[in-house]
Amino acid sequence: MKSKPLLLLNIGQLLTLRSATDRPRRGASLSELGIIQDAAVLCLGGKIVSVGTAKDALCDPWIRKNRKKVNEIDCGGRVVLPGFVDSHTHPVFMHPRLVDFEKRISGANYEEIAEAGGGIRSSIDGVRKASKTALTQKVLAALADFSRHGTTTVEAKSGYGLSLESELKSLEAIRAAAREWPGTVVPTFLGAHAVPPEYRAHSQERSQEYVDLVCNEMMPAVARRKLAQFVDVFCERGAFSAGETEQIFTAAEKYHFAVRAHVGQLGETRLGPLLRYQPASLDHMDYVNDADLSALARAETVATFVPGANYFLGLARFPDARQFIAAGVAVGLATDYNPGSSPTLSMPMAMSLACTHMKMSPAEAIAAATINGAWALRMASSKGSVEAGKDADLAVFDVSDYREIPYWFGVNCCALTITNGVPSGPLDS
Ligand SMILES: [Zn+2]
Repeated sequence: MKSKPLLLLNIGQLLTLRSATDRPRRGASLSELGIIQDAAVLCLGGKIVSVGTAKDALCDPWIRKNRKKVNEIDCGGRVVLPGFVDSHTHPVFMHPRLVDFEKRISGANYEEIAEAGGGIRSSIDGVRKASKTALTQKVLAALADFSRHGTTTVEAKSGYGLSLESELKSLEAIRAAAREWPGTVVPTFLGAHAVPPEYRAHSQERSQEYVDLVCNEMMPAVARRKLAQFVDVFCERGAFSAGETEQIFTAAEKYHFAVRAHVGQLGETRLGPLLRYQPASLDHMDYVNDADLSALARAETVATFVPGANYFLGLARFPDARQFIAAGVAVGLATDYNPGSSPTLSMPMAMSLACTHMKMSPAEAIAAATINGAWALRMASSKGSVEAGKDADLAVFDVSDYREIPYWFGVNCCALTITNGVPSGPLDS
């Protein structure tokens, strides 16, 4: 997509998130936002070309000469930061899960919700019956909404098809929607989201049969069509065991996919065997073994928290972020946008929850939602900070102090999003 040169001026606080080192943020470095007051950012050809004070920008010879050709945006003293990198979403579904919502409120358990026609089964039925065009429209509508909330890079998982045909259809819908959206989409194959109903009815052996299908039929088909960058597994009791996860990771290596997993949402899984596959991220992490924290701290793997799920399921317990940060683990934040447990695509909401329920500081939450999100997708060389040479992905918030972003919860304060140099939002008029 071609974009006009863009000059953002009169930025009250610019959070650059620039780093001295080429590693994910850990410990004290999570709080370093690299703030420039009264700043300006120049973008050309979809890239950031210079970042500094407004005074320096206006003295720049190129800007003085070309000012008339530049699309200038007066940020009016607002806060500008890197566009959020949402590293964990499930956007390929047709319908909200209102049966689950209402039943859960009235105290129903998982089995009772399933009996009433809710649960993951209803999302699987919805995707299997839907056309690729209908799914593409759903994904595209979600992507537009992500942009409106300041997100410019979205990881998008399949995982409600759970048959060869419907998983391919889901990933093709992600690809088709990504082509229509100016932001960046990172597709992930999550065939191992759940054992589908037709394999559930009988025994453990049938579950192994499904794992074999994921590894031997779905994965090669996804690889052949280049439909995904990552393979993800829901490693949890009631879903896939640690042993099955290793089998899936081994197959993923064979087909040259990088890996990530859902781990520790409901109970503890030992991380050692999984870390051998160098996952880009391990997500949820409500339950973790103390001994695994130091191994995680030594790894490049990002531990990604998704507190929207804890909130929406009404859980009292949230991941112990302070324990992870104290141990030196690189932590990330994501929405886990999905119809069952986290129907939000607002990164500011995830950040607000991280601050109030996980005791992360606003600065730590911002680093986790931007630069560490980029590390979780192995895209930190082009995303997650405002530095010359990186993609022109920025969000302008209608606040004068960055701490207001997680402070004003439940409202959208994003005034403008710039995705690969293309601005959209109320400020762009
Ligand atoms: Zn998830």
